[in-house]
Amino acid sequence: MATIKLEIVSPDKVVYSADIGMLIVRSTGGELGILPKHAPLVTGLEPHVMRVRFGADRDEQLIAVAGGFMEVTPEKITVLATAAEQPIDIDINRAKSAMDRAKQRIAEFHQGSPASEDIDITRAQLALRRALTRLRAAGMNFEE
Ligand code: ATP
Repeated sequence: MATIKLEIVSPDKVVYSADIGMLIVRSTGGELGILPKHAPLVTGLEPHVMRVRFGADRDEQLIAVAGGFMEVTPEKITVLATAAEQPIDIDINRAKSAMDRAKQRIAEFHQGSPASEDIDITRAQLALRRALTRLRAAGMNFEE
């Protein structure tokens, strides 16, 4: 079975490295499935749960990625992530707190109170997406 090397790097460490069968990612241009011998490609990544497959079986290793870039060559996929975690390394309580904080800020922004003028809505929405991504990778689904 053909494989392709995958390396996921965050600013402070190598988060994941393996020879894999397929990587499914959400790029800024939409969902992509990367197989061995893929054409060269560079793209941005959305905050989302990446899915790694090995061989023919459909079991998937999940990895939360907060955003970043992916470079693909026929032999190797390199993900340069702003942050990335394997499910085992995700602190669920921290992600829930981040989700609650972001939801609270977004709600205050939409209520339009005087304090809401200081809320950076884009920042809050991105924080919410990172938190939901972490919770999903850890097997918990929350609504936006
Ligand atoms: P928080 O508000 O909880 O810091 P954040 O989304 O702002 O969350 P990031 O800036 O994306 O955090 O990440 C900063 C660092 O903390 C990264 O190294 C990331 O892997 C780690 N990190 C963030 N949240 C979690 C979590 N719930 N579990 C494990 N590591 C986390």
